[in-house]
Amino acid sequence: MLHIGCHLSSSKGFLAMGKTASSIQADTFAFFTRNPRGGKAKALNLPDIQALSAYLSNHQFTALVAHAPYTLNPCSKDPSLREFARNIFQEDLDRLEYLPGQYYNFHPGSHVGQGTDTGIKYIAQMLNQVLRKDQNTTVLLETMSGKGSEIGRNFEELRRIYDLVEQKDKLGICMDTCHIWDGGYDIVNHLDLVLDEFDQILGLNLLKAIHLNDSLNPCDSHKDRHAKIGAGQIGVKALSAITCHPSLRKLPFILETPNELSGYAEEILLMRKLQSN
Ligand code: FE
Ligand code: FE
Ligand code: ZN
Repeated sequence: MLHIGCHLSSSKGFLAMGKTASSIQADTFAFFTRNPRGGKAKALNLPDIQALSAYLSNHQFTALVAHAPYTLNPCSKDPSLREFARNIFQEDLDRLEYLPGQYYNFHPGSHVGQGTDTGIKYIAQMLNQVLRKDQNTTVLLETMSGKGSEIGRNFEELRRIYDLVEQKDKLGICMDTCHIWDGGYDIVNHLDLVLDEFDQILGLNLLKAIHLNDSLNPCDSHKDRHAKIGAGQIGVKALSAITCHPSLRKLPFILETPNELSGYAEEILLMRKLQSN
């Protein structure tokens, strides 16, 4: 069975997200650990988190994919912004220990003119400061479209981060279909070649989750504008080939398409139907 869900708002609490997910036939979901633009996280409501934890196992959910605020820049030029990123990251990981066994994915960051080498060094430095041997969350580096000075624009850059990290067993990759398409990987015409390349450079065993998005722009455009499933340049056929691929089909798929809940429900239904065909 396809494991699929979408981004949900945490404004009504944790258990509410689980129930909302069930109401649209999702068995995973993503949520921002705090306001996506950063800022202070709400006080933890432990009974609510424990209720979600029980709900997830009672309803056969697969792993959730929590998303770090996308404004964190672990490789900023400004030391105080790097420290800010590290503190938020650490706090999120501490909080996620109350919901053990999930994924926490983040955008590696932008080197803002310092160069790729420096960016990669700072990102790995942060990970080495926050990852712990005994943590129950796996941190996922997200593949990026390469707009501006984003790190993670290709598999090689992610590999270089991975190589510098000590707690390698706490680290994996989240592949965003819009981002890799925009980054120049032709998953419409050459999915197997792209996955072979991923396997050679990173290893498919590191791939833990997929962000399933269509893209408004052509391959190699480095734009990062998500589209609804079938409303972009990747298209339904290529996206369903991804959910059906023998190397990918067991992973959690998270929709980050521009939708309200009813739109997500339709996309989940569509992708489930196409996978069972
Ligand atoms: Fe993301
Ligand atoms: Fe994404
Ligand atoms: Zn994106």
